[in-house]
Amino acid sequence: MTVFNAPEFDSHELVSISEDKTSGLRTIIAVHSSARGPACGGLRMWPYATEAEALRDVLRLSRGMSYKNALADLPLGGGKAVIWGDPRLSKSPALFHAFGRCVERLGGLYITAEDVGTTTEDLAQVAKYTRHVTGLRTGAAPSGDPSPLTAFGTFLSIKAALKTRYGTDDPSGRRILVQGLGNVGAALCHQLHEAGASLLVSDINRERVLYAMDLFKCQGVEAGEVFQSDCDVYAPCALGATLNEETIPRLRARIVVGAANNQLASEEAGRMLFERGVLYGPDYVVNSGGIINAAAEVSGFYDERSVRTKIARIPLLLEDIFNRSATERVPTNEIADAMARARMRRNDA
Ligand code: NAD
Repeated sequence: MTVFNAPEFDSHELVSISEDKTSGLRTIIAVHSSARGPACGGLRMWPYATEAEALRDVLRLSRGMSYKNALADLPLGGGKAVIWGDPRLSKSPALFHAFGRCVERLGGLYITAEDVGTTTEDLAQVAKYTRHVTGLRTGAAPSGDPSPLTAFGTFLSIKAALKTRYGTDDPSGRRILVQGLGNVGAALCHQLHEAGASLLVSDINRERVLYAMDLFKCQGVEAGEVFQSDCDVYAPCALGATLNEETIPRLRARIVVGAANNQLASEEAGRMLFERGVLYGPDYVVNSGGIINAAAEVSGFYDERSVRTKIARIPLLLEDIFNRSATERVPTNEIADAMARARMRRNDA
């Protein structure tokens, strides 16, 4: 993969590639923008097929964090890190210590946190070598695992989309398909179930599907059947790029709102959804509850009540995006990107 001309590169401020042979660490830290403050975004550990795939992922995620932090009005820029490795096989304290040293070398330009494949325990190891970490369980203002708060923001976002589409935000009786029953997806299912939604659940991990089917007395959906399933809302809560030119024509849901990062395989996918009349909640708006939670720890003061109050504003932003999209006849992802870029520029000035 060439870097400068890659669409994902988008003039990143810094891309730092490091290896530590002793621990087996191979990591890429990407800082897209520090215009609003130090770049903050999670650490993903994933067994990428190639290093080009790892680079592409970290660049896309990092830019997404710039947009997410700007629209959440946080004093943070956008960055992200990946460790190329299998989280089930290759974790060790030494690996995370070595990663901590890489973060420390950047002198606070990048603040790390949890993401797919990493946990608060892993971050506790990272924190032995750098103080530029958030999402810890101990310390001056610990915010802990962000997933429950990400799920809370996603739940409120689904309600906002229901209101825009159907005139009522009540999830009861709505058929909502949650894809990915991990930390966020499972917590989201609980909230939707309590609100009376009729759940459909899907995961490549069969045990998680069976558990959820039993707990929520709901329908399981095979991974390959997600898009043709009869439902009102598709909530992607697994990995990214599930919405593409192959899946969108099969999609039966009229609303797409979920927590997964980078749901659109390309900007064009957002336009396809728009042209088919599907209401899409831009992922980095919907899933910003986690970073709003983690940002409180960075600020040095953590209070869950005020974090929830901030997250409760996500639907207002979403409704603004939905309204502008309808009035200007522009896809919601393009509206959100333009709003985020404008906020980043204001801070650059
Ligand atoms: P997780 O690793 O706990 O769960 C992911 C789940 O998705 C797992 O159960 C996995 O088996 C399943 N999965 C993977 N590929 C799948 C596929 N093709 N089909 C169906 N299921 C599949 O991750 P998480 O923390 O719950 O995060 C989920 C998504 O939300 C990720 O995209 C993450 O980047 C995003 N996100 C998470 C947070 C957070 O606070 N955890 C914040 C913002 C965004």
